[in-house]
Amino acid sequence: MTIAYDDVLRWIRDFAAEISDNKQYLSKLDAAIGDGDHGVNMDRGMQAALGKLDAVPEKDVGAALKAVGMALISKVGGAAGPLYGTLFLQLGSATAGKTELSAQDWSSALESAVKGVQARGKAEPGDKTMIDALIPARDAFREAAEGGVSLGDALERSSVAAKEGMEATVPLVARKGRASYLGERSAGHQDPGATSSHMLLRIAAEVWKDS
Ligand code: ADP
Ligand code: MG
Repeated sequence: MTIAYDDVLRWIRDFAAEISDNKQYLSKLDAAIGDGDHGVNMDRGMQAALGKLDAVPEKDVGAALKAVGMALISKVGGAAGPLYGTLFLQLGSATAGKTELSAQDWSSALESAVKGVQARGKAEPGDKTMIDALIPARDAFREAAEGGVSLGDALERSSVAAKEGMEATVPLVARKGRASYLGERSAGHQDPGATSSHMLLRIAAEVWKDS
């Protein structure tokens, strides 16, 4: 029914582990349409984030999420560091002072996070970016939660929507970020940022499924 503080920490840690395990895969996706560093970037940032978690005030979900955002912004250059940094900072602002999250809290937090990423990166759906995974995930979660679906099932639907959004980036021509320099040649490849964003939502669904 609710996501506890410790569940949020578990999500952050499991996401960092997933990124670490898939560092080469994410960088390989980026090598096809960018500069081949997305996995390395995200891994450096999430490892730095893990190091910050111990200093977070006890049981403050927002403070933990903000600490992750600050670490990503300070440790990762390029596009994804500031964008993921903004995502986590916005999740943190939306949940400041909370010791646990309801479905409504998570819905509002996702709303703020996506807004923040779009304000910073100016990407719209279909531009072949992380937004293509995040927006369907946000919408699927909100619709499921408003429709009275259990938190676990709403998270699962959100994860599936992120996966579909990620897969739908394959035929797209990139209009934002480094991949856009390739023009038509960016088509036929899955976007690395949409892939890591799907991981973020999939891990949330896995870790929080019994919440
Ligand atoms: P860089 O492109 O600086 O090397 P990364 O390789 O770490 O940074 O991240 C690339 C990913 O960042 C892309 O796959 C895309 O999903 C995301 N991205 C790039 N520019 C934008 C943007 N303006 N808005 C949203 N996401 C973006
Ligand atoms: Mg790159």
